[in-house]
Amino acid sequence: SSRGILIAPTDVKDIIYPWLKEAKEYDFSDIKDGIRLHLNESPYPPPDFVLDAVKKYLIQGNRYQHPDLTKRFKELAAEYNKVEPGEIFPTPGGDGAIRSVFLNLSMPGDRVVLNYPSYSMYSVYSSFRGLNQVRVPLREEGEWWKEDWEKLVTEARDARLVAIDDPNNPTGSPMIMGDEQRLRELVESTKGIVLLDEAYYEFSGYTASRLVSKYPNLMIVRTMSKAFSLASFRVGYLIANRDVVKALEKGSTPFDVALPSLIAGITALENPGYAHRIAQEISENREGLYQGLISLGVKAYRSITNFLLFKHSAELVEPLMRKGIAIRNPVKGFYRVSVGTKEQCNLFLNKLGEVL
Ligand code: PMP
Repeated sequence: SSRGILIAPTDVKDIIYPWLKEAKEYDFSDIKDGIRLHLNESPYPPPDFVLDAVKKYLIQGNRYQHPDLTKRFKELAAEYNKVEPGEIFPTPGGDGAIRSVFLNLSMPGDRVVLNYPSYSMYSVYSSFRGLNQVRVPLREEGEWWKEDWEKLVTEARDARLVAIDDPNNPTGSPMIMGDEQRLRELVESTKGIVLLDEAYYEFSGYTASRLVSKYPNLMIVRTMSKAFSLASFRVGYLIANRDVVKALEKGSTPFDVALPSLIAGITALENPGYAHRIAQEISENREGLYQGLISLGVKAYRSITNFLLFKHSAELVEPLMRKGIAIRNPVKGFYRVSVGTKEQCNLFLNKLGEVL
């Protein structure tokens, strides 16, 4: 009969594309106890005025949030960045913005250009999406790391996507550093997307946001996880040309950022002085931490972020973990430590001194 045609049960391998099987896993380890200096977090709890506002809205948790809240967030983020609300695409963390670009604006087989090292998720999403990664190694120059500008521009020419974290994670160094001339050169010499990740903007103080109205292929990632102390709320946004934002909005609901997160984001952006103070304080602590590392005879790099990179040939993560301090080992022979409170920085320096 024509009814009841049986379709053979599908095997997982028939549903998972080959590049998904080969995708790189994000190697995540976390701690329950101890001082967290491994994830570039803010050491301070979210401000009370944010928590109070969030609490007031929790009772509305049974409802999808009113789209006016998303609109309000867009207006505030626009004001904060001196761009237009239509140029803001709210996302779950800066990572949500990165994911939107990598997964929605590329095709398997496309070429993606990345600095090496750079934020680990670029490579995770690239392999998940089946992109061909071109790695351009950074160069050590005294107390800083620099991008290989010539190679970056050359490789970008026929790439679909170039992702640059500026400042760079894990080195803490500025990359294009708001050098508009350079950025224009890159953006104009590629048909692909230039994704500029300004996750540490509040610490670095420079941005290319005003260029997105002119260049539809320039997109900027921002997060409220760092200077706004809202990491687990998962709130960030993409700053992009209005036509790009419109296109991305067609493929999403206005509910992607959860209600408590949206309220946290809105309240924090209504009081941006908080983030400025945190950024200033962390930058002061960072200089103390840098000097402390130098005093211990460690080769440390300058940073314009809320973390520092230093060099050491022996294993340090485990020995420090045993002393209650978590740091990260992003590249063999190099360690990254978040800038904590002054007390945390001093404690870290003491413990490091014991294990060196
Ligand atoms: N970009 C860079 C360069 C980062 O270092 C991070 C977080 N460590 C992010 C983006 C994403 O952070 P979040 O998703 O919490 O906004």
